[in-house]
Amino acid sequence: MKLYNTLTRKLEDFVPRDPQRVKIYTCGPTVYSFAHIGNFTAYVYWDLLIRVLRQNGWTEDRVLNITDVGHLTSDADDGEDKMEKGAKREGKTVWEVAEIYMNDFLANFRALGLIEPTQICRATDFIQADIALVEALDAKGLLYETSDGLYYDTAKFPKYAELARLDLEHLRAGARIDFSAEKRNVSDFAVWKWVREGEDHAMQWEYRGRMGYPGWHLECATIIHERLSEPIDIHTGGIDHVPVHHTNEIAELEGAYGQKMADVWLHNNFITVEGEKISKSLGNVYEFKDLQAKGFSHMDYKMWVLQGHYQSERNFSFEDLAAARQRRLNYRNFAALRWQKQTTDMSDVKAAILAQLNNNLNSAGALAELDKCVAQCVPDEDFVRFLDEVFGLNLITESPDINAELKEKIAQRGAAKKQRDFAKADALREEIAAAGVALLDGAESSVWQYAD
Ligand SMILES: [Zn+2]
Repeated sequence: MKLYNTLTRKLEDFVPRDPQRVKIYTCGPTVYSFAHIGNFTAYVYWDLLIRVLRQNGWTEDRVLNITDVGHLTSDADDGEDKMEKGAKREGKTVWEVAEIYMNDFLANFRALGLIEPTQICRATDFIQADIALVEALDAKGLLYETSDGLYYDTAKFPKYAELARLDLEHLRAGARIDFSAEKRNVSDFAVWKWVREGEDHAMQWEYRGRMGYPGWHLECATIIHERLSEPIDIHTGGIDHVPVHHTNEIAELEGAYGQKMADVWLHNNFITVEGEKISKSLGNVYEFKDLQAKGFSHMDYKMWVLQGHYQSERNFSFEDLAAARQRRLNYRNFAALRWQKQTTDMSDVKAAILAQLNNNLNSAGALAELDKCVAQCVPDEDFVRFLDEVFGLNLITESPDINAELKEKIAQRGAAKKQRDFAKADALREEIAAAGVALLDGAESSVWQYAD
C-alpha cells in the first residue's frame, strides 16, 4: 500500500511498526458551531484509509480528538478562543456549547457510516497531562515567559522547519510590524496562555499560581503521548495545518520527550462550493440539513466525496451531488442483481479495485474499475459485502430482495407478455411499479430494479 507522506514529499510504501496495532491520530473538530459539508470530506477520506488498512490485514488503534478549549480565531496566538466566541453568540456556557456541537458532529459522523475511532478524546480531559508536557519542555529550556503566557523558543528546536519546509529566514524578513515585541522569533508560539486581566475566559486552570489554559496545539501532542504513545504510524489532518498546527505539535511532543511523533503525515485538501471559498457572506456554508432539505442523504454526499482524491482541491455543486446520488442508486441496483441472476466471477474486479485503493487511496480509480463491470457482471453476496467494506455505502442493507408476491407478479407478467396478452402485462407492470419496483425488459427476460 502506497501513501503520500507530507514529511518526505514522496509516495511511499506503507509499513506499520506493528501490524496488529497501526497507530493513527486524526485532528478532530473544534466544537463551537455546526460542521459544514466541507469539514466532513476529511473524515470520509480518513475512513477510507482505515478500510484500506483493514483490507491489507492490519488492525488500527485510532484516536480522534475533540477540541473544546484553546483554539483561537487566529493562528498568531491572538484573537478570541472559538469556544468562548460560540458561547457568547448563543448565551450559553462553553461547556454547553461543546456538548451541543460535539453531539451534532458525532451524529453526522455516524450517519455517514464512518468507522468509529478506537478512542475519542476531549481536550479538556487532558489538562493535567498538558501541564506535564509543558513542564518537560520547560525542563529542557525550550520555553520562555511573556506577559501573555509560556512561549516556545522555536530557534532551539532544530527540526522546526522540517515538516512544512518553512523558510525561516524569509519568515523573519516578512514579519508583521505588530508582531508581539516579547516574542524572540516570529515562529514562536504560545504553549500555555495566561488569562489576562479583565479577559472573559470561562475555561481556565491554575498553573504556577496563575489561571490559564492550553494553547491549541498542545492537546494533540498530549493525547498522542497519553493514548497512543509516540512514534505513531500515521497522523492525519487538513493541509492548512502543515505550517502552524502540525509543525507546532511536532515541536511540542518531540521537544518534550525526544521521540519522533509520526512516521507518515497525510493531509487532505479542501473543497470550494459552487466555485467559491466556503464563507458565510456568500451563503454557501451548507450543512447536512441543507442537503436533506433538497432530498439528498448522507450517503449521497459520501458517494460524492469518494469520487475525488484526498489531495485534490474539489468543487461541490448540487448538480454533481445529484450525479453522485444516481451513481449510488445504480450500484444499489447492481447489488440487487444477486437476487435475480447467476452470479459471475468477480475476483479480477476485486483485485483491480484493491490495486487502485492501495495506490494512495485512489477511490475514484477504484470506482472506475467497478463501473467497467457494472453493465456486464452479476455480483454475489460476498462481492457486495466487499464493496461495503471498502466504500461503506451500505449496499447490502439497501438492496434487499423483493417479496414472493412481487416475484409471482413478475413471473405472471412475463408469461402474459409471451402470450402476447399486452393488456394484462401492462396492468401487472403497473401493480409492480406501485410497489416501488421497476422492470427492465431484456431479450429473454426482465430484471427488476428499485423504482426511485
Ligand atoms: Zn492536531
